[in-house]
Amino acid sequence: MNPTIGDITDQRPRGLARFPDDIEARLADAVARPADQQPEWPDPARARAARDALTQLPPLVVPGEVDRLQARLSQVAQGQAFLLQAGDCAETFDGNTESHVTANIRTLLQMAVVLTYAASLPVVKIGRIAGQYAKPRSNATDALGLPVYRGDIVNSLDPAPGARAADPSRMLRAYAHSAASLNLVRAMAASGVADLGRVHDWNRDFVRTSSAGERYEALAGEIDRGLSFMAASGADHGALHTTEIYASHEALLLEYEHGLLRWTGAPAGEPRLYGLSSHMLWIGERTRRPDGAHIALASLLANPIGLKLGPGTSPEQAVEYVERLDPDNVPGRLTLISRMGSEKVRDVLPALVEKVEASGHRVVWQCDPMHGNTYEAASGYKTRNFDRILDEVKGFFEVHKALGSHPGGLHIELTGDDVTECLGGAEQIDEDALALRYETSCDPRLNPKQSVELAFLVAEMLRP
Ligand code: PEP
Ligand code: MN
Repeated sequence: MNPTIGDITDQRPRGLARFPDDIEARLADAVARPADQQPEWPDPARARAARDALTQLPPLVVPGEVDRLQARLSQVAQGQAFLLQAGDCAETFDGNTESHVTANIRTLLQMAVVLTYAASLPVVKIGRIAGQYAKPRSNATDALGLPVYRGDIVNSLDPAPGARAADPSRMLRAYAHSAASLNLVRAMAASGVADLGRVHDWNRDFVRTSSAGERYEALAGEIDRGLSFMAASGADHGALHTTEIYASHEALLLEYEHGLLRWTGAPAGEPRLYGLSSHMLWIGERTRRPDGAHIALASLLANPIGLKLGPGTSPEQAVEYVERLDPDNVPGRLTLISRMGSEKVRDVLPALVEKVEASGHRVVWQCDPMHGNTYEAASGYKTRNFDRILDEVKGFFEVHKALGSHPGGLHIELTGDDVTECLGGAEQIDEDALALRYETSCDPRLNPKQSVELAFLVAEMLRP
């Protein structure tokens, strides 16, 4: 049985108008705007009641953590760090197990070690985790004519009409699941699971068992020697054994995000409006209409914000978003996540980078090489080809190199489970293999070998 927190009651909790009047007014304006990709709740009063229940629960993260991530992202924006953000396309309640969470974090850490060494820069690690339960969809109905699956926070993937009805109590289950996974993530980060030597041992296993292992041996050997050198010189401080891992998800479902807003501050900080459903929130390609609710809500938040930009984005639009979402000119406040597709990145990205850089705002430039490279295989599986993914990353690096801007990070859909969802990689997963272990409830993810291989290949691009 999955955990649930409380029941939705019809009683409006006391004190719901919780924010200063001007913030309440701006919030009311934001949520009254057109909002794409929201479910049709059969009983909207129950959705509001679920939101109100969330307002009474402990927040999932605290402002001090959010501010610390903001500081880390400032470093990325200024070229002093690199950002790795990765995890499932869609988390699921059933998939929220110890083994899945552990494997995803382990894969994130394995990639981060390789990138840290290659870039000679700190790598800021953010999971797509502990809240990545809401999905935007291209169509309102699926191939069977049923209401489309919108993520476990809204309805069930089961292909039955009842299961596809939007159920507000799922927001409370999503909250409980997020609390459980975030608890494990924090514990892993702090307890030695992230020990550099240990993570590197996993990478040595990867090199030993990968079909393309020899190609990566030299770099793995260098990391070995680096670690031995540090151990021999007694450079044995905390940073070698513990790390910071942050959480993020797409801020798609407005009732949920609204329920987890808090007017508060870090111990030494001023109160501000924080979205305490996660450390970083991003706005997706399908919900970024400039006059819409998602952008308006994000502009009110103290959290670092991500914004997905597809190939249809004009340089002028990009600058409008930047001015809207980073009005105070805070380096790293905004992460622009380009997801152009390997065939367009070299054509479309340069003008965006030039225009935004010229605006004086210091954003994090992040490459999502997944979402512009999705297609349907002949067998009907949605998939992505490893070579295309790698080529988009290459194009991203080329563009930034040519313009002198900092290629700040990667945004990857992956899992630590040994799935067969994306084609290619050293193990050469082909179309016939997709059926073997295709488990995603939404988009195809890199498996752990493909993920670590990608990190080694990006390392070759990163080396000074
Ligand atoms: C996603 O990140 O899963 C997603 C839906 O991306 P995009 O908004 O870029 O399509
Ligand atoms: Mn996705």
